Amino acid sequence: MSEQTATEGKTYPPDPELSKTANVRPEMKEQDLREFWDEQAKQRLDWFEDYDEVLDWQLPYAKWFVGGKLNACYNCVDRHVEGGKGDKVALHVVPDDGPDSPEARDITFSELQREVVKMANGLKELGVGKGVPVGIYMQMIPEAVVAMLACARLGAPHTVVFGGFSGKAVAERCNDLECKVLITQDEAMRGGKAGAQKTNADEGLDAGPTTVEKIVVVRRSGADIPMNDRDVYLHDLTANVSDDPESCPCEPMDSEDLLFLLYTSGSTGKPKGVVHTTAGYLLGVTTTHNLVFDVKDDSVYWCAADIGWITGHSYITYGPLANACTSVLFEGVPGYPGKDVWWKIIDKYGVSILYTSPTAIKSHMKAGEQHIEGHDLSSIKILGSVGEPINPDVWEWYREHVGGGTAPIMDTWWQTETGHILITPLPGITTLKPGMAQQPFPGVRPEIRDDEGNQLDVEQTGNLVLTQPWPGMMRTLYKDDERFKDTYWSKYSDAYFAGDGAKYDADGDIQLMGRIDDVVNVSGHRLSTFEVESALVEHADVAEAAVAARKDDDTGQAIIAFVSLKGDKQGTEELEQALREQVAQSIGKLARPATVIFANDLPKTRSGKIMRRLLKNLAEGEELGDTSTLVDPSVVEEMQKQMNG
Ligand code: ATP
Ligand code: MG
Repeated sequence: MSEQTATEGKTYPPDPELSKTANVRPEMKEQDLREFWDEQAKQRLDWFEDYDEVLDWQLPYAKWFVGGKLNACYNCVDRHVEGGKGDKVALHVVPDDGPDSPEARDITFSELQREVVKMANGLKELGVGKGVPVGIYMQMIPEAVVAMLACARLGAPHTVVFGGFSGKAVAERCNDLECKVLITQDEAMRGGKAGAQKTNADEGLDAGPTTVEKIVVVRRSGADIPMNDRDVYLHDLTANVSDDPESCPCEPMDSEDLLFLLYTSGSTGKPKGVVHTTAGYLLGVTTTHNLVFDVKDDSVYWCAADIGWITGHSYITYGPLANACTSVLFEGVPGYPGKDVWWKIIDKYGVSILYTSPTAIKSHMKAGEQHIEGHDLSSIKILGSVGEPINPDVWEWYREHVGGGTAPIMDTWWQTETGHILITPLPGITTLKPGMAQQPFPGVRPEIRDDEGNQLDVEQTGNLVLTQPWPGMMRTLYKDDERFKDTYWSKYSDAYFAGDGAKYDADGDIQLMGRIDDVVNVSGHRLSTFEVESALVEHADVAEAAVAARKDDDTGQAIIAFVSLKGDKQGTEELEQALREQVAQSIGKLARPATVIFANDLPKTRSGKIMRRLLKNLAEGEELGDTSTLVDPSVVEEMQKQMNG
């Protein structure tokens, strides 16, 4: 491994004031696994019936809170209204046009309850009830959250399909779970443009046999879209139904009843249908949301992810609402109606907690900090990052320009499969190191092992595993126990194999190094692509970088760097030399890229992650395979031309 890492140097101790007032207590880390979660379960959730046992663990199958009964919607909505918080704002709804739009509005917990009850009553008329699966294919509008909660209220499992996916993806996922009903919207409003939504779904469903019998359409743009026998507008469906909560009580669900199914984002291959059940998942997201982001009664929280990803499920819908937290829900994109729309939102609502991805932060860096000027971001107390390792440079920019030079950044590591955050700094406790997720959450036991199962020493990159179960862990892959066992539980007999590389530093802090498959071996030295990328983005002209390897007769593998430049910077031979020198300086000569490919952008999945499998294929000169989850397939075509030319 390289001697010097990109994260070397600066540390940021916690603010003593925050240490005094933080919800999370250092003692929690010492607690026994069952004791910790038992305590949290009693404190944070309302149960219709108590559980008999905290955990039944028969590797790889976990059951949490065995025998308990509860309802996720009740915990996210009804109990807050009953407890006197009905008038508290649940959602600051910001439409595509931004916070100044006349369509911007607030939804209180009481209003949310009535909307959920109405939709649930409507769905009941279509035969939806306990155990009847529902598909949701929507953009970031409040009805998407309402739809998830209405399903949870009825005990109907949902599967949300990201609104930017094709109709084919919708049909595949709905048919797999055997959804009877699909909820969608007429059109998608993003970046000032109306795009197809409902007709996409039609195209997908009409291409073959489908289990979907009814499509519920939410009116958003108001466009005159084709409606047929199968379709009904939500406002028609609910025109005569009651919005009285007593007309539609929350279904008592078993702790281990299916809450939802969600597919992973597919950056490494065919998406996997991840199964999440009710009690453990809900408790995991509620507890982590509360403790990692230090949520207080007056917090204003904004998770800028999409409902279509696990981050949206856990940290837009279930976690924040179960905590009775006020959230921003933004329909649009970072650059519209102006490049300052995010900063306007934070200013207008006094956002105190912002949770987003390195990709989004990088796009703001690319746009420039001048767009922040004139907006008051002093309300920000805590920042969060998720989705990919965050380069130290990006971390520093985020803290400096968005966090006012003081806000701590919670770099949260987790997966669709884990359900909630597992490795993260803790507010008021952890001394922060840029670019590192650092520490396990209470009850979580990570280890870093080599392929033979030996625990590795400091600074050695190995496989991240988890040796203890946690409440939000996936229960299996839908209808595919074999793939579940194979993928996650066969590499080691006693631990969950996350598929990510990691290493400990001298203080015992964990650094995530990207996926295992992203380690490059040059002349017998294992280098993480993430480290090389961090070195490349240190160069002032570089906006983003991704690294892959090709076979090399002399060195085993040789590094290929794909680089996008800031503004109108041009990729010259001189710059290529400068970049190779930059990497040599910060990591070592053997990490120098053999080839640098300049591009306007990098191939990204719709969840904003770089699709590394493609870069690997490009580097190796192999077939590209499925590119359907890419935002812009032309980016790869352009790269391919350069590789060949
Ligand atoms: P697929 O599993 O289908 O290939 P995916 O892994 O991108 O897709 P997700 O479950 O959305 O799907 O992403 C989880 C992965 O994201 C983690 O395994 C890890 O590689 C990466 N990740 C998430 N958060 C962090 C973080 N804070 N630091 C480093 N990596 C992270
Ligand atoms: Mg994954």
